[in-house]
Amino acid sequence: MAIRNIRLIGDKILTKRSKEITEMTPKLKMLIEDMLETMLQAEGVGLAAPQVGILKRLIVIDVSPEGDSPIVLINPEIIETDGEQTGEEGCLSVPGKSGLVTRPNYAKVKALNENMEEIIVEGTELLARALCHEIDHLNGVLYVDKVIGGLHSASDTEEE
Ligand code: ZN
Repeated sequence: MAIRNIRLIGDKILTKRSKEITEMTPKLKMLIEDMLETMLQAEGVGLAAPQVGILKRLIVIDVSPEGDSPIVLINPEIIETDGEQTGEEGCLSVPGKSGLVTRPNYAKVKALNENMEEIIVEGTELLARALCHEIDHLNGVLYVDKVIGGLHSASDTEEE
């Protein structure tokens, strides 16, 4: 496993749409391992493949306080949302900053797991926020475009 370089805002790759994954390969397995390690090391709650320079529809999320319950989602798609939450959001690609973003309070996502089996993941609050934030990355969208009232210095906002 290896820590990958996290691409920062201003890097054009972060504005591009990522491609669907059609098959699991050894290279992709290694990418998943590396993304999990990179997310843990950066103490992030989520990471999307384009953030490490790979335009594939793959995200990893871990909202557990211990960082020991990772979720791997391939070709994730939001199929249902409910409610609204407005809160501070941060991003590993925009270090040291945060801003207020409104997201659904509940999100239901259809995806494939590492074995290319269909799974459904449901989340509220931070997990719903992380799911929406990471899936935005796959569409070339950064949270900074959704911030209400501008970015400010982050104190201890979770970064994704
Ligand atoms: Zn992010």
